[in-house]
Amino acid sequence: MNPAHYIGGTFLPHGDAPGGDATGTLPLIDPVDGAVRGRVPEAGRETVDAAVAAARAALAGPWGRTCAEERGAALRRIADGIEARFEEFVDAEAADTGKPRELAATVDIPRAIGNFRAYADLLYGGAERSYSTSVPGWSAAGTGTGTGTGVSAGFGRALNYTVRRPLGVVAVVSPWNLPLLLLTWKVAPALAAGNAVVAKPSEETPSTATLLAEVIGAAGLPDGAFNLVHGRGAGAAGEYLTSHCDVDAIAFTGASATGTAIMRGAADHLTPVSFELGGKNAALVFADADLAAAVDGTVRSAFTHSGQICLCTERVYVERPVFDEFVAALGERARTLTGYGPMISAAHRDKVLAYYRLAAEENAQVIAGGGVPRFGDARDRGFHVEPTVLTGLPQDSRLLQEEIFGPVCHVAPFDTEEEALRLANDSRYGLAATVWTSDLSRAHRVAPQVAAGVVWVNCWNLRDLRTPFGGSKDSGIGREGGTYSLDYFCEPVNVCVQI
Ligand code: NAD
Repeated sequence: MNPAHYIGGTFLPHGDAPGGDATGTLPLIDPVDGAVRGRVPEAGRETVDAAVAAARAALAGPWGRTCAEERGAALRRIADGIEARFEEFVDAEAADTGKPRELAATVDIPRAIGNFRAYADLLYGGAERSYSTSVPGWSAAGTGTGTGTGVSAGFGRALNYTVRRPLGVVAVVSPWNLPLLLLTWKVAPALAAGNAVVAKPSEETPSTATLLAEVIGAAGLPDGAFNLVHGRGAGAAGEYLTSHCDVDAIAFTGASATGTAIMRGAADHLTPVSFELGGKNAALVFADADLAAAVDGTVRSAFTHSGQICLCTERVYVERPVFDEFVAALGERARTLTGYGPMISAAHRDKVLAYYRLAAEENAQVIAGGGVPRFGDARDRGFHVEPTVLTGLPQDSRLLQEEIFGPVCHVAPFDTEEEALRLANDSRYGLAATVWTSDLSRAHRVAPQVAAGVVWVNCWNLRDLRTPFGGSKDSGIGREGGTYSLDYFCEPVNVCVQI
């Protein structure tokens, strides 16, 4: 699979970008063994301009005239198209990310299909119609008197109705950890709402986005409704796209620092942003919890995809009476984990290992891991790190404050519910949290007090796509999911008719 730009319904061969500005290609590196597997084209400014222009043209053409039912049917054809090539998508996702194939087959690709079906269902379920409200009757103030001034306050009989209009050209920029899932999480509602999209996936995981472009082409979407450009972010395709003067809205998932950079560029054109950013997610384990379930859930929440999911737990707070038992059980599970994948890149592996070194320097107690595994085969040239469990660090340690995005969590004890909440909320991030308790009242009391966008009780990463998803504080701006996404990707227009 050779990733390629897709603009106005056409794939551009490498080096054949408009204006000849495909300034080169990047190596596509296999994180499992460090081998170069292919090349990723880099879009220069003119390529990004061409993609934005193609999207703009699509809005003026047949795509701009589609009704909700037609778009819903198109989303279903896309979902069916991914499903028909399921194994190909799974292979490409596993190869780019290094994640276990089973994870791609049970999470990434099914969820990508689900994203398209969920928004098709919403359209068929009348989401768009229910958005169109009407208010007949008396309308107060500013009705005009017919005397020529047209500004005097008063009352007049009017019919007000509100329709939803797509925002226009939407830029979607996504990260490498769940490449197709997170891309389609934004592309599906953006298309459902009638926008035209220019997407830029992570330069580290370009393959499934390219397959998606093939599927969208085969699904018969009008040319330019969906466009794809590849390349890096800062000073490259990502920045060119998100600071583009003809982009009407930005939907971004990635690091908080990148959100800051994108917002600066967007400010010049007052382009609205929806941001899903980093996290430093806490788990609160109360002594009354089903401890086996809490350990099991924390193994999943800390180590799935080697901790490279924004929702992963990096801070665990455990009520003191069960602290030792919990730490021993979690440590044992971490030490015996097998089949886990690598970090996405050498740079990211080095970042995670720098935190492991910091833990040693700060005299953390290393319960499990803390180093680099040795396999005795090609994987030793890849970017693996050991699943790691730490204790003994103070709350203000960088290890408890900064997002590491690796297979590592720190476990600390607490004595009271108030203390647990204070520790959980002592973070610049507020993406997700997990509460483990068998006390129903405590669950309902504690969960809403955690300063996070998503709080799970006795589970982790159980998702209903209709619910709001997003982060507080430095973890994001806005909410996506269900009608929350449709709210972002279109704007209300009120029409007032004097009757
Ligand atoms: P990243 O911010 O480095 O890159 C994300 C995307 O932004 C990539 O496509 C990249 O090329 C692009 N980009 C980078 N700099 C840019 C710039 N200046 N202008 C425009 N585009 C730019 O993030 P990453 O390393 O790919 O992903 C990991 C981060 O994403 C973590 O912080 C993680 O928590 C976060 N994340 C958040 C969620 C969520 O839903 N909140 C989900 C997944 C990942």
